[in-house]
Amino acid sequence: MSESIFSKIIRREIPATIVYEDERVIAFRDIAPQAPVHILIVPKKPIATLNDATEEDRELLGHILLTAQRLAHQENIADRGYRLVINTNSEAGQTVFHLHCHLLGGRPMSWPPG
Ligand code: AMP
Repeated sequence: MSESIFSKIIRREIPATIVYEDERVIAFRDIAPQAPVHILIVPKKPIATLNDATEEDRELLGHILLTAQRLAHQENIADRGYRLVINTNSEAGQTVFHLHCHLLGGRPMSWPPG
């Protein structure tokens, strides 16, 4: 896959407000937040979309969800509620082709999403 802006954030070549990092993932605040809490959880492995994940990534995908849960607690939205979103390809509105999970919270949300 071609290089994404998120690979540059992982390498600290462009700035971001990083809220969590370990050997497998990085999490930083979205530059255009859609809710009071809007964090992106990004695997360091450059997988373009969820369609490109394989059985080999099973543990990594679980780690992304558990990282989201940990950050929801850290941001004090775990009990009130939060939403996780993985936009995949054009009809879902994916704009950055490096797999990422949005953690959104801090306000009531409607369903269905737009
Ligand atoms: P998606 O539409 O699911 O591909 O989401 C991409 C997200 O990345 C959008 O919510 C953007 O606001 C966010 N984004 C793009 N560039 C940056 C950046 N440099 N730092 C933080 N978030 C970014």
